[in-house]
Amino acid sequence: MKEYPFLNLAQVNAPIMDELRKAVDRVVCSGRYVGGEENSRFEQTLASIHNTPFAVGTSNGLDGLRLIFEAYKALGKLHEGDEIIVPANTYIATIMAIIQARMTPVLVEPSLHTLNIDSSAIERVITPRTRAIMTVHLYGRVAYDEAMRDLVRKHNLLLFEDNAQAIGAVSAVEGLYGNHSTGALGDAAAFSFYPTKNIGAMGDAGAVLTPHADVADAVRALANYGSDRRYHNIYSGFNCRLDPVQAAVLNVKLKYLNEESTRRQTLAATYDRHITNPKVTRPTIPASSSEHVWHQYVILAPDRDRFRENLAAKGVQTDIHYATPPHRQPCYATRFASLHLPLTDHIANHCISLPMSPATTAQDAIEIADIINRL
Ligand SMILES: *Cc1c(COP(=O)(O)O)cnc(C)c1O
Repeated sequence: MKEYPFLNLAQVNAPIMDELRKAVDRVVCSGRYVGGEENSRFEQTLASIHNTPFAVGTSNGLDGLRLIFEAYKALGKLHEGDEIIVPANTYIATIMAIIQARMTPVLVEPSLHTLNIDSSAIERVITPRTRAIMTVHLYGRVAYDEAMRDLVRKHNLLLFEDNAQAIGAVSAVEGLYGNHSTGALGDAAAFSFYPTKNIGAMGDAGAVLTPHADVADAVRALANYGSDRRYHNIYSGFNCRLDPVQAAVLNVKLKYLNEESTRRQTLAATYDRHITNPKVTRPTIPASSSEHVWHQYVILAPDRDRFRENLAAKGVQTDIHYATPPHRQPCYATRFASLHLPLTDHIANHCISLPMSPATTAQDAIEIADIINRL
């Protein structure tokens, strides 16, 4: 029986293995194992493809998110106890970063149409303590629209982005500073290059992008023991720097960003055309195809666990993003005990992620769709 693996990272990297080996070898031979040439080149490239002045490499995406909050606190622009609006159905790291910065996450339900935060549900949770929206471009889809932009302006909020899943996505609506790329729409954005992300390192890696020089300087200092120059610590900081081996890998991978986004868009369109099982809810396709880079292709199905088992029995490996939403995780269940989030629960109970890996071909997608249609 033919197998359809969910994601095999060795297979993903195989076509560019020579290039990756050479990149890693450059660092090995350089004698410079923290910071250096690869890091600078990575930051310059990331900033330039997003048309944003400042990028700072970080140890991972969670640290990128945490550094944004710590930087705003260090600059006196955010304070402990400030309320930050965030989608309830995000990956838990977004909410963890807010809580670890001693701020208050205010969870907002998603739209079942986009599976992203529902902009029309935001205004009713705004209070005098609300300082920012942390939008999350979940599964690779732009989570920003005119309604969100108007709210940010009307209530004088900061706009942050968790762009861990959406590098390369382009918003139809112009961001606060004239850009359209996710990660460049607002005041600061965190990226993750965790190996399974659309652009994946060979270990943990992340970045922060911002149009503000003071924020970039604070993030860079905070990630390096709070020092603005050698042995001069202006903040009580952290060690959250990007590893140059990962920077070298990412300098190779970023060259293939457009190709990778297009490949995912084509695969999603193939699933969309061929899945006809009436029990299955397919993800909606945005009006402009560039608004989605399909980190995951997520369907909703009744009796989800049985559905997955039946797919597995036919060789189709799937995954779930995410089975337990943040407000039900043991670490936060008490904090969020009074919350009623039926849409978030509904998605958690019915979502299935189909194979989207670079090793999944359009023909595979047609066959997987056929298998789904016969369940
Ligand atoms: C992966 C991810 C993160 C965390 O990134 P790491 O690099 O794994 O720390 C944060 N938010 C979202 C939405 C993610 O998908």
